Amino acid sequence: MIDFEHFHTLLPQSVGSKSGAVAPTITPSAAFGYEDAQQAEGIFSGNIAKPLYARMGNPTNANLESILSKIEDAKGAIVTSSGMGAISMVLTAYLKSGDEVLCIGGFFGGTYALMTETMPRFGISADFCDVDDFEIIEKKLQNGLSMVLVESIGNPNLKLPDIEKIATLCNRYNTLLLVDNTATPLLLQPLKMGADILIYSTTKNISGHSASLGGVALFRTVKEEDKLKTEKYKHLHKIIDKMGSKAMIAISKKRALRDFGMTANAFGSFITMLGLETLSLRIERVSKSTEIIAKALDGKLEHVSVRHPSLNSHEHHARYKEIFPSGSGSLMTLDAGTKEKAFKFLNHTKLITQTANIGDNRTLALHMKSTIYSDFDTKDLKVLGITDGLIRVSIGLENPKDIINDFIQASKLIN
Ligand SMILES: *Cc1c(COP(=O)(O)O)cnc(C)c1O
Repeated sequence: MIDFEHFHTLLPQSVGSKSGAVAPTITPSAAFGYEDAQQAEGIFSGNIAKPLYARMGNPTNANLESILSKIEDAKGAIVTSSGMGAISMVLTAYLKSGDEVLCIGGFFGGTYALMTETMPRFGISADFCDVDDFEIIEKKLQNGLSMVLVESIGNPNLKLPDIEKIATLCNRYNTLLLVDNTATPLLLQPLKMGADILIYSTTKNISGHSASLGGVALFRTVKEEDKLKTEKYKHLHKIIDKMGSKAMIAISKKRALRDFGMTANAFGSFITMLGLETLSLRIERVSKSTEIIAKALDGKLEHVSVRHPSLNSHEHHARYKEIFPSGSGSLMTLDAGTKEKAFKFLNHTKLITQTANIGDNRTLALHMKSTIYSDFDTKDLKVLGITDGLIRVSIGLENPKDIINDFIQASKLIN
């Protein structure tokens, strides 16, 4: 089980300070003066830890980064303008033209488009496979992948990868493993399971209020014997030699953040920290509520089926019980069979907000095929598990009974 009590103490104690201003300070300056020429030199060389210029970070971002690192026991973190900003930062910092990435399981539409349309234009190719295709995964790793990308729970296909097993394989073949843990903060700690890099869209549960777009990448320590020191990552060796155990952060700053500028802003980081104070309370509640709602609605809705890994009918139900003893966050899906029925169902609900977000304090829902996935062709929709009547639901903090009753009354009005 997750020790939520530990996080209930850690989070409010980590955000803000005991003397002076209690709430986190916002430092919105774009530039920072240096005391003298020597200090300027020291800051630019990395020997003096003071702000350089806001594209490379600012004190408010640094505050958020240190709290997020503490939660994950990471060596360091870089907050970004959005979740996509975090993924783009990692890919562009670590990969080069000619590299191959294997994407395992289900993916958020933005990530799928990035990997199938945008990265290939820069010579980085991506292959996709199912979470349990271990033979394919091992064969691809043997043939020389540069990175493996996986979501902790597929958004929205709700497949659950065995991250520990995938991490073991990636470590055996000296390949970087990037995990998108957006939907399951605190519930799963992939860095401790052997992943190299973790990303979050902090826009979702971490912030929780639909008030701040943001992302973060978290990194492990670079070890004496490290996969990054193998021939495959030769283009990174100069920074690794110079920066040692902190090199993973430096690579991302120097090879992506500085050059592409997907930096978070101070005000956004401030809002994110306010959300972070209550993350453990909220994620504990929504994970429980989602299970309660999925189980109560399973088989009870007219025209609409329910999908959630806590249900026996889910293909990864056993894995769910093993790796998500405290629940898997706020996501569940409904399938109304057709677009028309899905639209009717959504429009008859009274409590939900129809929006493209997840992990919010209120319950959200959206018909997938006509919105986020409307650009995708039949083959892509099949890979991602997007059916005609698929509705993604993200459960909020409301009384689960109210959501259950709302969904039941809406399903009765479909015809
Ligand atoms: C929302 C989301 C993202 C993208 O994050 P933004 O902050 O919207 O850029 C990436 N991965 C997952 C799983 C998401 O749900």
